[in-house]
Order: sequence, then C-alpha cells, then structure tokens
Amino acid sequence: MSDQNNSVNLKFCKKCLMSNARPRIRFDASGICNACNYLSEQNKIDYKERIEELKDILKKYKSKKGYYDCIVPWSGGKDSSYIAHRLKFEFGMNPLLVTFAPLIPTDEGMKNRENLIKLGFDHYYFRPNQNVSKLLSKRFFFERGNPKVHWDAGIKSIPLRVSIEKKIPLIFYAEHGESHYGGNPLHKKSSKILDLNEIYENNIGDVPQNWVDEEITEKDIYPYTMPSEDELKESKIKPYFFAFFDKWNVYNNFEYIKSKINFHTHPKGRTPGTFTNFDSLDDHIDQVYYHMQFIKFGFGRASRDASRQLQNNLISKKQFFQYVKNYDHEITTDDILSFCKYIDISTGEFSEIVDKHRNEEIWNKTSNGWDLRFKINEKIINEN
Ligand SMILES: [Zn+2]
Repeated sequence: MSDQNNSVNLKFCKKCLMSNARPRIRFDASGICNACNYLSEQNKIDYKERIEELKDILKKYKSKKGYYDCIVPWSGGKDSSYIAHRLKFEFGMNPLLVTFAPLIPTDEGMKNRENLIKLGFDHYYFRPNQNVSKLLSKRFFFERGNPKVHWDAGIKSIPLRVSIEKKIPLIFYAEHGESHYGGNPLHKKSSKILDLNEIYENNIGDVPQNWVDEEITEKDIYPYTMPSEDELKESKIKPYFFAFFDKWNVYNNFEYIKSKINFHTHPKGRTPGTFTNFDSLDDHIDQVYYHMQFIKFGFGRASRDASRQLQNNLISKKQFFQYVKNYDHEITTDDILSFCKYIDISTGEFSEIVDKHRNEEIWNKTSNGWDLRFKINEKIINEN
C-alpha cells in the first residue's frame, strides 16, 4: 500500500516503531515516543536507592501480629507473580494475593495461579456477577470495541476495597502502564502511587456510575467502583507501583518466575496474534481485545510485543517488520467463538461490530476486504 491515501498523518517512533495512532502516546521533537524516553530515564536511575526506599516502606508496614502485611493485585501472570514471590521470599513479607477473576479464564492462567499458591500464599479470588459482567462486555464491545473496560476498573477497585475492609493499607500494583508504554501520566508521582483520576481518565474513560441503565442497577456496578479519595485517605491506603522501586523488565520477570515455579506458557508454543508465548495468558478475551486494537488503531499484539522488544534491543527492526507482517492480524476461530458465546452474539454480529470499529483513516476497503492504508515497510525501517 502506498502512502498516497495520506488522510491521517501516521508516524512511527524512531526507536520502537510504535505508531502515533496509539491513544495518548506523544512524540518528542526527534521523533522518539514517551515510552522510549521513559525507558531511557529508567536506565539512569539508581535502583539501589529505590530498593532501600522500598525496604523502609516494608519495614514500616510489616505486621507485628502475624497478619497480612500487604496486598498484591494478582492475575497469576509473570509480573504479578514475580512481585508476590519477591515480597514473600526475598523481603519476608506476608502478602495477600487478590485476584479479580478473568472474564473467560484459561487453563494456563489457572495452573499458573495454583503453582504459585502451592508455595504457601493466601489467595482472595473475587468473581463478580457474571450476568452483569457479560452485559457490560457486550456493551463495551459494541460501543467502544473494547470488551474489558469494566474488568480494567475491577482489577483496580477490588484490591482497594479489600485493603480497606481488611485493614491492609499497603498495596503493590505492578507497573504504571501510562508511563511505561506511552500514555498520559497526570503528574510526576503517577509512576509511584496510584491516582484515582488517572483510572477514570485513562483506564476506564468514564465513571462506572454512568453504566447504570434499565438492565444494570447501581448495586450491580459496585465491584467496579473505586472507593472515594476520602475513604482512601481515612484508611491511609498506600497503593504503590512495584515497578517504581525495581528496574522493571518484563523479560526478566518471566525468567525469574520460570525459575521459581512450573510456569505454563501458551499451549500452542506461540500466542496467536503475536510471536511471544509468555504474557497475557489468563483470559481468552484478551485475544479479542488485542484484535480490536488492530482494528481501531492499526497495531495489534505483535506490534505491541515487537515494539517492547525493540526498546530493549532484543530484536532488530527487520524482525519487527516480519513479526508484524506475519502475526498482527491473526485471531483464531476458537477465540472468536468463545467470545461470541460469552456475550451471546453470532459470529455474523461479531464481524459487523468489528467493521463498525474500523477507523477508515487507517483502513481501506478493497474488493478483497480491508487493507491497512499504512504499513510498516522497508522504507520506514530504513528511514528510522
Ligand atoms: Zn518508542
């Protein structure tokens, strides 16, 4: 595809090749994205000091009564398991693991959670009303092309609720996505401590109270609502991001957890839609989520993964090109069927909604179907 249909000014980061179609990403004057700049800043940080700061915090919160010292919001994936394992076995804490259930749980996710729990963790598994969850998934898929908006709210809210109820004020979320992956951190401290306004503005794009309608009541949306700022203050909740204190690297997290437990990767050897096999393994719905990013913004799961690997100098730009070309568009029939069954629609309706979300500045309708107007090509790679 040539660049002649240049109705949108698409740019690619000179370092990681992520496109400016990614929501909230920003580029500096030399064409480098904010995720790459954040990583460069991280590389200059003295993490020995940060770990000392972490140790001081842990010391302060370590329970004297043998009760839980902290909460780890925990999917059972490589990152949150890495955090839980280090807190317990390296720092001698007694964390309570809190899971907001995946929407369509996978066997690998379940096995991985069991394998960590076996090492001696207490686990709180919260599964909200599935009738409501399915209705919300369907609604958000239809309206926003994202079937897990409410899940994004739940994974933030339930650990906060449990923290208040059980009086465990210290929480360790994993990384601050807006800083690490190119987003819109609202202030400088955003990468250290969770900010409710960011959740509303960046993660959910809404307040859950707006989801109430003739089908969904105020009671139904409780699991997705955040405690108020006042409640958090009153209970002295400290919701930190562990990655602030640690030289965060998802590949190292994977290597770490693989050396501690029998960590299951994707059973097919490669997760469809990408070339990796080790992350986002807990929920079948993720396949639809990443596919919809491809539809809405023109970059899929392979682009996301390849871009992160480029940032860390793990692959070449040529490899990036191959991975994106081979896998970005891919979604399996099984994944589509399990999603359609979950929200009770036909595959015909699924395709209709997918097409409704195609951004025509990014997609071109041809006699053979849809084609991306802009693709990473040799020319872009050589220019960068
Ligand atoms: Zn970049």
